[in-house]
Amino acid sequence: MKTKIANWGNYPVIESKEERFVFADQLDTLIKDQQPFIARGNGRCYGDASLSARTISTLKFDKVLSFNADAGFFECQSGITLDQILAVIVPKGWFLPVTPGTKFITIGGALASDVHGKNHHVDGSISNHVIEFDMVLASDEVVTCSPVNNSELFEATCGGMGLTGVITRVKFRLKKIETSLIRQKQVKAANLQELIELFDTYKDYTYSVAWIDCLKKGAHFGRSILILGEHATIAEVNENQRSNPLALPVNKQIVFPINMPGWVLNKFTVKAFNFLYYAKNLKKEINNIVSYEPFFYPLDKVLHWNRLYGKKGFVQYQFVLPLNARQGLVEIMNRISDEGLGSFLAVLKVFGKQESMISFPKEGYTLALDFPIRKGLLDFLDELDELVLKYNGRLYMSKDARMKPQMLTGGYPELEKFKSIIKRYNPDGKIRSVQSDRLLLTEIK
Ligand SMILES: Cc1cc2nc3c(=O)[nH]c(=O)nc-3n(C[C@H](O)[C@H](O)[C@H](O)COP(=O)(O)OP(=O)(O)OC[C@H]3O[C@@H](n4cnc5c(N)ncnc54)[C@H](O)[C@@H]3O)c2cc1C
Repeated sequence: MKTKIANWGNYPVIESKEERFVFADQLDTLIKDQQPFIARGNGRCYGDASLSARTISTLKFDKVLSFNADAGFFECQSGITLDQILAVIVPKGWFLPVTPGTKFITIGGALASDVHGKNHHVDGSISNHVIEFDMVLASDEVVTCSPVNNSELFEATCGGMGLTGVITRVKFRLKKIETSLIRQKQVKAANLQELIELFDTYKDYTYSVAWIDCLKKGAHFGRSILILGEHATIAEVNENQRSNPLALPVNKQIVFPINMPGWVLNKFTVKAFNFLYYAKNLKKEINNIVSYEPFFYPLDKVLHWNRLYGKKGFVQYQFVLPLNARQGLVEIMNRISDEGLGSFLAVLKVFGKQESMISFPKEGYTLALDFPIRKGLLDFLDELDELVLKYNGRLYMSKDARMKPQMLTGGYPELEKFKSIIKRYNPDGKIRSVQSDRLLLTEIK
């Protein structure tokens, strides 16, 4: 039976036959079926990367296979979520080596997007910490890939948006922690120039990210808060916290119950931003110890916050520009602000060096903005694409729902190599998504 499904941006919505598996031999049967499909984790990519007329959900394939709590190795099935992994590893003094801004994603989805976190400039992306993974190919063959074994397939799968096969098992290294708390520093920046200088001043911090208020113009254009963090040591926490230093956070989540009408958005979003991230912070700098949840996952506290954008949904536009293209960042932000279609919030991060075949990160500035779907938006984003290409940047496929094939070609120098690997391992385009068809990665000739 087909049902309507969408990813986090609620755009696009498609009809799909969603199939699940618990055991490897059930997956085998699903893959032998001639109908094209795409693997789907928790649908937290924003656009159409895990949408297809037939989807194979990994969510029931979610077992821990081994955990070496002395050496910090973790091995699991691909459908387990980061949330479930944290519940096992944190009490034993370990943390994820890399985590995106939500813990409600699967490890298979993390690898297929090669996710980055606030520590990219120090620790790289998730694939830098993977020892090996197993994958079932379109031919139904099972292969084990690592940086040295089937290395080309390894690279094409990390960030390859599920087009090389279904990842089934992942083994990766963890990060040692003394406490589950974070020593956090928040510094206000009056404008974009100051923010960029602050990123430089604090480049030795392991975790860094900035929230920018896009409503401000003139001298306060780009006013923002830089949020920095380190895993707190035992010596840094108070008596109370020291009694149970590896405690898991207590979850009190708020659920956003319905899709909001469009007009609520402006007022709500701006106020939420001003309150949470700016006006509340009266001081130039705040230093405190916080639980890892609000630090890494501030948005997870409000479940289904994507409903805030209403029934039509939204797209997230995330690009990266090289470090020498600061002017491009200013130009793009100005263009957005002038257009009045702008995102109220933008998240800025500086990536460290990364050379990959198809993964998104590369050294430079990455900015992510939400745009609610409305008239004229798609044309406007095509215009922004031109600016991103002009400054030698590219877009994140995991957030994409609308870019044109030439944007992908312009942004990813190794795209032809990636395409040739898809052709080798997925020759008939049996593994395909709405996105891969749109971007001509799996077109049938
Ligand atoms: C609030 C929020 C914050 C975010 N912050 C960040 C961030 O800071 N950094 C970042 O990098 N990303 C971020 N993301 C994006 C998110 O981390 C990625 O989109 C991730 O891939 C979603 O994983 P998922 O399990 O939901 O997979 P899905 O969304 O279902 O699928 C994503 C891709 O992975 C493929 N896939 C899934 N499982 C498998 C599998 N087993 N085998 C092969 N392919 C598979 C799918 O085909 C699809 O191409 C954020 C998303 C949200 C909603």
